[in-house]
Amino acid sequence: MVNQKGGVGKTTTAVNVATAIAVAGKKVLLIDLDSQGNATTAFGIPPEAREKTSYDVMVEDAMLDEAIMKTEVPNLSILPAIIDLSACDVQLASKIGREFILQKKFAALKQKFDYVFIDCPPSLGLLTINAMTAANYAMIPLQCEFYSLEGLSYLLNTVKLVQDNLNDKLDIGGIILTMYDRRNKLTQDVEAEIITHFRDKLFKSYIPRNIKLSEAPSHGKPGIIYDHRSSGAQAYMLLAREILKRFG
Ligand code: ATP
Ligand code: MG
Repeated sequence: MVNQKGGVGKTTTAVNVATAIAVAGKKVLLIDLDSQGNATTAFGIPPEAREKTSYDVMVEDAMLDEAIMKTEVPNLSILPAIIDLSACDVQLASKIGREFILQKKFAALKQKFDYVFIDCPPSLGLLTINAMTAANYAMIPLQCEFYSLEGLSYLLNTVKLVQDNLNDKLDIGGIILTMYDRRNKLTQDVEAEIITHFRDKLFKSYIPRNIKLSEAPSHGKPGIIYDHRSSGAQAYMLLAREILKRFG
């Protein structure tokens, strides 16, 4: 889940889609690659319970399988994050092969999971580059706002740079409209623009603005478990189904 714009629903989407796909019986890993650790907190895992984290994997010599934890959701594991990760860009600045750390460590673990989701931080720094170098697909949560399209073209440029220089397997997995409000004229304009340029990349399940999704993390539960009947939960379950259909 990648978008350098902050607060567009990357974490909420990663947490709920990963949960829905795990509930559907697939083995899923969620990698929290954001120093805010929001995806980790969303599963009710307090900082003191995060023994080894994505920081140890990225900066120290921990392997992924030492750091991965089980969540309360069957079939769903998480690589937790802590605040130390915010120093990662600086600490790795002179390391040779720094873009490939996650890809290399991940290779040993690939067979164990059907789906791996990476929650990226709101930047196109080294952590996000590592995520895109390790991934097959860039999934782009997008809020329909005035600056969204400008941000999107910049993001797509970065994806292209990663494709050309670091990971030729990377593809755009799709665009996910989040916090969607049909009554808002600007939302409709941005949506129309996205349809014009990216029709085949746009997921049909739009995620509505829904208070239950934003309440869920404070209860340490993914939205689709906190209130599975809410409009937000329903939308994420449909999106998960669409993802399973698109990627098998
Ligand atoms: P960051 O860039 O800081 O990592 P993000 O892109 O991961 O942010 P989220 O943390 O998922 O975005 O969402 C930002 C805020 O909006 C959070 O408080 C979240 O609970 C809320 N939120 C996300 N999606 C929805 C939604 N569909 N309806 C209502 N609130 C939402
Ligand atoms: Mg986030």
